[in-house]
Amino acid sequence: MEKQEQQKVSRLVFVLIPFQGHINPMLQLATILYAKGFSITIIHPQFNSPNSSNHPEFTFIPISDNLPKSQVSAGDLFGIVSALNKNCEGPLTECIQEMLKAEDPHDRISCIVYDSTMYFSQSVADHLKLPGICVRTSPAATMLAFAVFPRLHEQESMSLDRVSDLLSLMLKELAASMKKITTDGMLELRAAVADSVKKCSALIVNTVDFLEQEALTKVQELFSASAFTIGPFHKLVPTISGSLLKEDTNCISWLNKQAPKSVIYVSFGSIASIDEKELLETAWGLANCEQPFLWVVRPGLVRGSNCLELLPINFQDSVGERGCIVEWAPQKEVLANDAVGGFWSHCGWNSTLESICEGVPMLCKPFFGDQNLNMRYVCDVWNVGLELEEFEGGTIKNAIKRLMVDTEGKEMRKKAIHLKEKVELPLKEGGSCYNSLNDLVKKILSF
Ligand code: UDP
Repeated sequence: MEKQEQQKVSRLVFVLIPFQGHINPMLQLATILYAKGFSITIIHPQFNSPNSSNHPEFTFIPISDNLPKSQVSAGDLFGIVSALNKNCEGPLTECIQEMLKAEDPHDRISCIVYDSTMYFSQSVADHLKLPGICVRTSPAATMLAFAVFPRLHEQESMSLDRVSDLLSLMLKELAASMKKITTDGMLELRAAVADSVKKCSALIVNTVDFLEQEALTKVQELFSASAFTIGPFHKLVPTISGSLLKEDTNCISWLNKQAPKSVIYVSFGSIASIDEKELLETAWGLANCEQPFLWVVRPGLVRGSNCLELLPINFQDSVGERGCIVEWAPQKEVLANDAVGGFWSHCGWNSTLESICEGVPMLCKPFFGDQNLNMRYVCDVWNVGLELEEFEGGTIKNAIKRLMVDTEGKEMRKKAIHLKEKVELPLKEGGSCYNSLNDLVKKILSF
C-alpha cells in the first residue's frame, strides 16, 4: 500500500491484546490507517510486547499489566484476558492523560482503536471523552454470539429471528464450545465485550462482506455502531512480520524444491496445544501420508515439553527430505508458495483468511473458541475444506489423501482458487472493502 506523503491529520491510539492472532491484524490495521494519513501510537501490555523495530513509523508505549506469572505459565487464556482488563485500566488512563497533556494541536488524539477483547478501553475512552473504535479480529458471526447469549443460562433458549439454519447451527456450536470452557471470567468477558460494542462509536471487522453477508446484516441489526468491513487486513499491507517467535525462513528454500501443489502445510497457530499422544499420531499420519509436509512444531505445542524431543528418534530419518519441521514459519509466504497444496489448520481466523486469500484448501481440526465456527464456514459455506475427525494416524493419512490427491480434494482446490479470485475484488477501487475503508476514514475525520 502506498504511503500518503501528506501531513498527518490526527493521531489514533491503538490498544493491543498481547496474543499473536490479535497483534498481527491490529498492526496491519494500524499500517492501513497510517497510509491514510493518521499518526499512530500503539499502547500494549508488557507481556508479549510486539517488536517495535518492525514499525519505526509508530510510537510504541508499553503499560504495566501485573499479570501473575502462574497464569501466564499455565496458559490460562481467559484468566489472562480478565486480568489484563482489570489491571490495565489505570495504566491506560494515565498513559492517555499524559499524552493529552502534552498534545500538539497539529497532532491531536482523534480516537482510541482497541481490540474488542480489551473491552475496558471503551470505559477509558468514555471517561476521557474520546471516541472508541472497537476492532473485531474474529469473524463477524462471533459478535452475534456475544449479543445473543450474554449469559450462559440463556443459551438453551437462544433464538435469533430470520437466521438461516446453518448460521443458527454455527452459533449453537460456538455457544457449546464456549460452554465447555466457561468460567465466571468467560461469562464476564462475553457480557463486557457485548457492552463495549454497544457503546463504541464504530466497529471494524476483519472480514469481507460477501463472506459473511448474513452475519453482518444481523450485526448491524443488533448493534447501533456502524460496522466497517475492511478485511482481509493482511491483503492491504506489505508483508511485515508481527511474529513474536523467530520465523524460520529455511522452509521457503525447502518449499522451492517441491512439486507444485504437493505440500501439506501443518500449523495449529500460536495458542492451541495438543498432548503427547496427539503429537505422535500427527507424526505417524504425516510419515505415512506420502505427501511432502511442512510442519510447525512450536515450542509449547505440547504444553510443558520440548516437543521435538518427544518425536521418535528416527522420525526425521524415516521421512528424509519429504518432511520439513520448523518451530515457526513465515506463514503468509508459505501459503503463497506454489508448492503448497493444502493447509491442515486449527482454523484460527487469521489462518483461515490467509489460506483462502491464497486459494489453498484446508483440512480443519478446530480446538476452541471461534475455530469451530470458522471450520463451518470453510467446509459448509465456502466448500473449500474438509474436517479431520480425530487425531489418529490412519484418519490423518486418509484425510490428507482426500484433500491432496482425490477428486474430492481437486474439486475443493478449484473452488478455493475461485474464492481467492472473489476475495480480491472487494479490495479493488470501488469494491466493498475499498469503499468501507474510505468511509471509515471519513468517520474518523468527523470525530
Ligand atoms: N503464524 C505464523 N507462523 C506460524 C504459525 C502462525 O506467522 O508458524 C501466524 C499466522 O500467519 C496468523 C497467526 O500467526 O497470522 C495466527 O493467528 P490465528 O488467528 O490463525 O490463530 P491463533 O494463533 O490466534 O490461534
